[in-house]
Amino acid sequence: MRLDDFADSVKNVGQERKKKLSKLGIFTVMDLIEHFPRDYDDRSNFRKTDEVVLNEENTVKGIISVKPELLKKGEFQIVRAKIYDDKGILEAVWFNQPYLKNTLKVGKEYIFTGKAVLKYNSIQLVSPDFEIFGEKELLSSGRIVPVYALTAGLSQKVLRSLIKSVIDETIEQIDEFIPERIRKKYKLCGRKFAVFNIHFPENDESFFAARKRLVFEELFLLQTKLLMIKGFMKKKECGIFIENFDTFDIRKAFPFKLTESQEKVFSEIILDLKKNIAMNRLIQGDVGSGKTAIAMMVSYIMAKNGFQTVLMAPTDVLANQHFESFSNIFTNLGIKCVFLSGGLKKSEKRRAYESIELGVADIIIGTHAVIQDAVKYNNLGLVITDEQHRFGVRQRGKLAQKGDNPHILVMTATPIPRTLALILYGDLDISIIDKLPPGRQKIDTSFVNSSYYERIYNFIGKEIQKGRQVYIICPTIENGEKNELKAVEEYSEKLRAEVFPNYRVECIHGKFKADYKNYIMEEFSNNNIDILVSTTVIEVGINVPNATVMLIENAERFGLAQLHQLRGRVGRGSEKSYCILVSDSKNKTAKERMKIMTKSNDGFEISEKDLNLRGPGDFFGTRQHGIPELKIANLYKDIEILRLVQKASEELYIDDPTLEKEENKKLSDEIERFFSKAERFDFNITTTQ
Ligand code: ADP
Ligand code: MG
Repeated sequence: MRLDDFADSVKNVGQERKKKLSKLGIFTVMDLIEHFPRDYDDRSNFRKTDEVVLNEENTVKGIISVKPELLKKGEFQIVRAKIYDDKGILEAVWFNQPYLKNTLKVGKEYIFTGKAVLKYNSIQLVSPDFEIFGEKELLSSGRIVPVYALTAGLSQKVLRSLIKSVIDETIEQIDEFIPERIRKKYKLCGRKFAVFNIHFPENDESFFAARKRLVFEELFLLQTKLLMIKGFMKKKECGIFIENFDTFDIRKAFPFKLTESQEKVFSEIILDLKKNIAMNRLIQGDVGSGKTAIAMMVSYIMAKNGFQTVLMAPTDVLANQHFESFSNIFTNLGIKCVFLSGGLKKSEKRRAYESIELGVADIIIGTHAVIQDAVKYNNLGLVITDEQHRFGVRQRGKLAQKGDNPHILVMTATPIPRTLALILYGDLDISIIDKLPPGRQKIDTSFVNSSYYERIYNFIGKEIQKGRQVYIICPTIENGEKNELKAVEEYSEKLRAEVFPNYRVECIHGKFKADYKNYIMEEFSNNNIDILVSTTVIEVGINVPNATVMLIENAERFGLAQLHQLRGRVGRGSEKSYCILVSDSKNKTAKERMKIMTKSNDGFEISEKDLNLRGPGDFFGTRQHGIPELKIANLYKDIEILRLVQKASEELYIDDPTLEKEENKKLSDEIERFFSKAERFDFNITTTQ
């Protein structure tokens, strides 16, 4: 058997099991070996029959004393056996597995593992796993037992024995690919040892050694490849010399006082600017926490010291809104803001380029257009990207290359596990705005089905009468034949004609021209539109504090992080705000996800729960950021190992940047293999809606 053979070359795997394995992403022998346990069960300590603890899992060694009986109770067939040891007798029962009556042999010694319950005054083990003691090596008891992700029709026991037999047969083929020098330096165990012990650890020590090695290996492949793509992101000296830190005027221009949280983050930035090393900082703050104000403060300092700032936003609509709000503050302060997007007329673009190149423009705000080669900055001091999660690594890199080592500030509302941030952003420092501005109220969120429409529309009508505004989000622009989803155009037409004839209902989506979108957003901002029906184009950043209702149709279609972003469009002022999620989905997970939304207003908590629901195979953010799925490294917990990995791959990169040396050949091949499995590895995910 070879490692790249198909799974059905494994003993006891026929077409049926092959199919089931493929559901777990297992196609080859190697896949089976890399199906690492998702958990472990410590069954290494046996309990005597008189030591069994109720309502807990117990592992008991004992002999079957009399022939097990088969009982029928209604629909159930129950096999009942008696187990004895030198301390007494215990009962065990199994449901609907009548054949066990003959499998379990009188007089034989077995190890049983199962939950103990009290039934009619006697203690029973319920459907325990069992293995014969002493015949061959135990897999499901008497040791630390692996617990695998399963699929219907494939049990832990079967998977354990398949994996064990494959490992026994192929362990010699498992090849080392981390260069010995690195293995020695970072005290990593060998690959064979690691693979064996991650599945069947002999003790805690060998488990930890195995896990460290495999986590290191996985992150090392990832990190080395990233270094090869991005190049080395060492802290760079920068010649941006700031003397004037006076912020009196801009503070006066704000209609509010910065919160303590904002002040804290701002002071962290100031410390960065006082060093002669380029800042590389991520501001993480939940929707509505006031990131824009901080961006303005820093841009102000730049302008006052004669440096340009460029702010890149992921959508036209958001870029435009930023331009408006920056202009509002800065024009009176004598600081010039310039807008740049792909949608501008040629002549407008030319004018923008000119004022940027000549240094007339102090703050440049736009979409991807700001990174085009045609844009020549005059004295670029600061690069800001807003809603960072919408950009890919390459785009951000390109922006950073503009100018001469400018300071970099990235802002995001999406909580990124620190580890992932380190992987994606290298030496990024993180600042967190952990409190919302005062006066904000919790957004009341409810989850209903379509039988509630009458009530929903009544409620919306009342809010509009109070002077408030409403967003309605639909998953699509136009409907296909099936007509199963709410579509922006059709739905807004219907609302205008039938439901709200007395109110102004407009719609917006990505297919409209930039000019028209801006016009609609402006009208909405000025409260000339009561109801705005939209796709997720307004998902990020949009700020209209008078809007108090967010109605999301076919809510099951959206991810939790996305729902949270969308909901963040309301509750931005002092008025009580509401989010209504409508879904007729019968899917259990979908319903659970909606419930999470109704219970929590906290982006961090939501994304953590989302992660739990989606399971470990789909770590939050990895797919979204276009990196391969990780099999073993935990982005929340393995930060210590990641630090070692970063050091190791930097050393390697300096020594052999293209991995050409003989000693690195195997590593290079393994990197190929690792990334060929990634569905899409483009570092460049942008969404258009
Ligand atoms: P986000 O962090 O989601 O980008 P914004 O920067 O758009 O949030 O801010 C959301 C709203 O909060 C805006 O209306 C902004 O004017 C307001 N805001 C920001 N800082 C404060 C503050 N310190 N006090 C009161 N309101 C604030
Ligand atoms: Mg924002």
